[in-house]
Amino acid sequence: MIVIRSPLRARALYSLRHVKRQLSSTTNSQQQSSLATQPFQRLVETLKSSTQTCTIIESSCGGLISSSLMSVPGSSRVYFGGTVAYSTKRAGKLLCGDEELHDRLLKSTSPAASDDDNMIVGVEEHLSEETKAYIQSKVKWTQEAALSYCKHMDTDFTIAEGGATGPTFHPEGMKAGFAVLAVAGRRSGQDDVEILAQKLVLSTHGDREMNMRLYADAAAELCVEAMNIANPSIEMTTEQPDTNQVQSTNVTDKLYLDRSSHLRSDAEVMKELYNRSDAQHVIVKGASEVLLGSDDQLSLPTLEQPFLGTLFETDDAKKEALENRTFLGRLGDEQTPLFAMYLPEDTNVSSDSNNSYFANTRSRAPMLSPLHNEIALTATAYVNWRDSHRFCTRCGSPVEFVQGGTCAKCTSGHMAWPRQDPSIIVLVTNAESTHALLARSPRHPSYLYTALAGFVEPGENMETAVAREVHEEVGVNVNHHSINYISSQAWPFPQSCMIGFHAKTNAADGLASINIDPEEIVDARWFEKEDVYLAARDTDMMGAVLDRQVVEAQQANGNWTGSLLVPSKGVLARTLVDHWLEE
Ligand SMILES: [Zn+2]
Repeated sequence: MIVIRSPLRARALYSLRHVKRQLSSTTNSQQQSSLATQPFQRLVETLKSSTQTCTIIESSCGGLISSSLMSVPGSSRVYFGGTVAYSTKRAGKLLCGDEELHDRLLKSTSPAASDDDNMIVGVEEHLSEETKAYIQSKVKWTQEAALSYCKHMDTDFTIAEGGATGPTFHPEGMKAGFAVLAVAGRRSGQDDVEILAQKLVLSTHGDREMNMRLYADAAAELCVEAMNIANPSIEMTTEQPDTNQVQSTNVTDKLYLDRSSHLRSDAEVMKELYNRSDAQHVIVKGASEVLLGSDDQLSLPTLEQPFLGTLFETDDAKKEALENRTFLGRLGDEQTPLFAMYLPEDTNVSSDSNNSYFANTRSRAPMLSPLHNEIALTATAYVNWRDSHRFCTRCGSPVEFVQGGTCAKCTSGHMAWPRQDPSIIVLVTNAESTHALLARSPRHPSYLYTALAGFVEPGENMETAVAREVHEEVGVNVNHHSINYISSQAWPFPQSCMIGFHAKTNAADGLASINIDPEEIVDARWFEKEDVYLAARDTDMMGAVLDRQVVEAQQANGNWTGSLLVPSKGVLARTLVDHWLEE
């Protein structure tokens, strides 16, 4: 999206999952695991093995890049020190005594400095001009800082970081944080210091601590990439770069699936798409599992990949699976056709699985990128619908699936399409919005409290469903005028669409007394905003909060002593909670 001088494939969008994995990947103390993350271990090892050094000037990371590097044994051989320059205006005296650098950094933040559009390659359209200009200023800031520090400190490399970790700075269109990273150094045999690699990291949320971790790890990884550019003979685990190539990086993923629904009725085109050897496939196993790759995103194999063949015991089974594929849409600039492919529940996956594995769609979909989330849910919806709609609901005749498998047509000509049943989910707060009413269902572990939910009944509108469900489940009345739509989420388990609201009780009720329906709810309470905020943070640190073993392990080693967790990010209930917390 922005300048990428790093010719390596840039993974600029780091997900929360990445951070969580870092935090949960060690059995040592939480503090140790949160500092000496894998990217920093790799950076220090790479610097040590090539006897090179680096320095750091960081802003929104607040010293985390430095402390992470210093927490790796042996860092004293590669790192002498760095600077935290949070306020450019006030940090002049910290900048190596370089007043000219201070002037240049100040100028980089002025509006006039953003004229140089050459630095930006294909900035996402959804960002406002104000946001783009702000990012642009950080591009210049980090370049100036990295170049100057590399010279002043006489080190081989300098990492510079500038950005915004949280909601303090909120240009229109950017509620989550971002950081621009730059690494300066000298190419092998050259005397001049230059910017070797630069990267924009866009976060998907505004949690400051998580974002600082995200940016710091990205900085460590970028520095290793820059080292490879400076000296390609350094031993690396990644592919060799094409140094002539300037790449932009797709940091946000395409947000929506191109469903190409207009092609579904064109039999010729569909035939052609079904025959494409480069077609990609979402593999759905049984009703509830989907194939993921080693990066924990969807694995979308083509028919040419031998792995796909290993999933079928007989040629007939393969033929049947191919014929029953559902056309989901097209991917990327190549418009590669994308299909859902169904495998029976008892399919054996060979050990030579290309690092792919099947995972529970319901629990893992929220952790996927927005595009992969949509693809996984769409594939699951079609596969489950086709499995449960073998006969016409009007006349009972068998159906065949037409229009790329997206429509069921019976022998009498009746046609049917998949449905999504609306259900509401609502975060209830008191009128002052200082407390939220969260409840625990019998299906959930004892620490997990969430928003109230239920199906919309025939003839009922959403707002009435909200008021009815809240009253039925906890005996509380909400103010009809306060019911606000927030967001929605497809939930094809088996065929729901969750529609999320915030609703307030009447002011006169204060913290209204709760009277739960024991059939639906085990417990419901009013929680203070600060307690929910802390629970949300604990949840993010914990990872899979629906997995009791994960939580019990964190309790056993003393990393978590709390009693309240909320749903993980990516789940609509959490979106409602976060929306309220950010009010
Ligand atoms: Zn029929």
